[in-house]
Amino acid sequence: MANTILIIDDSITVRRMIHQMLETADLFDVFLEAEDGEQGYEMMQEHDIDVILCDLDMPGINGFDLLRRMANAKELRDIPVIIITGHEDREQKLLGLNLGASDFITKPFDPAELKARVKIQLKLKILQDHLRELANTDVLTKLCNRRCMLNMLTRETDRSLRTGKPLSLAMIDIDHFKKINDTYGHSLGDKVLIEFSRQVQLSLRPYDQAARFGGEEFAIILPETNLEQAAHVAERVRRDVSELSFQDDLKNLKMTISIGVAPFPATGIRSLDDLIREADNALYLAKTNGRNRVELWRERRRAS
Ligand code: GH3
Ligand code: MG
Ligand code: MG
Repeated sequence: MANTILIIDDSITVRRMIHQMLETADLFDVFLEAEDGEQGYEMMQEHDIDVILCDLDMPGINGFDLLRRMANAKELRDIPVIIITGHEDREQKLLGLNLGASDFITKPFDPAELKARVKIQLKLKILQDHLRELANTDVLTKLCNRRCMLNMLTRETDRSLRTGKPLSLAMIDIDHFKKINDTYGHSLGDKVLIEFSRQVQLSLRPYDQAARFGGEEFAIILPETNLEQAAHVAERVRRDVSELSFQDDLKNLKMTISIGVAPFPATGIRSLDDLIREADNALYLAKTNGRNRVELWRERRRAS
């Protein structure tokens, strides 16, 4: 991944100078510049930024305002900001640090010090990104794990309530997986889970998110998708998995899955817990109705 730095300063001379000093340091692939807080804030939303160097005194939105704004934006608050102070102003530095800045650098810059301070922040940011990814990834299948899925569902249900656009959740459980383990052994069982996960991702649209909910239970989050559209995706996934052919020791294996799908929001589905419960109920119905099938929340209601 490309390392990106954003330099925010109203003086083009300062921006150029910093750019030149850091260009030879071999730390960043992308250099972005903004001349005030407003423009800087816009760039943060458009780019994946690793380190920000930010002047404090700027017309319009100054460095302090920008730090306050970033602290209120969940997606931005973890980007390290090094503040640039024009002089040895103790109060300014302290205020900036208290507002969330990670470090400061004082003008006129010592190139070696600038590089060293930026390098530390970049290193911490890369480490932080790596830890976040580990915390959100299932070790075996490399899919989004339960934590990642619940975070994403929280985001998507919030967004759906805000925008009025629906979303759907599909819960998947592998049929008779215990038998697969008993027949082929646990480690080939693991291999089945890995292959299955790969296939699910191939069957999905780019904006759908597959996750491992736990054990041999999986989920698909389908943003901006109503129940009818989700039913099509679920049916395709079910069919693709039933047609999967395995290699070597697993070549005689035929696996199937059962899927339950629920929409959000809907009657009685107003929260994340409601959504998971109803998708789970639909899944349970798919199991009791014979497995290797998709059941929808609405059909369950009509049937009952
Ligand atoms: P059903 O069709 O009703 O879902 O039957 P099932 O056998 O799939 O369901 P059950 O919940 O009884 O068994 C799930 C099995 O999945 C039991 C458990 O040992 C196995 N399992 C869970 N996690 C893993 C894993 O990470 N690797 C392997 N190999 N097996 C796992
Ligand atoms: Mg199960
Ligand atoms: Mg199962």
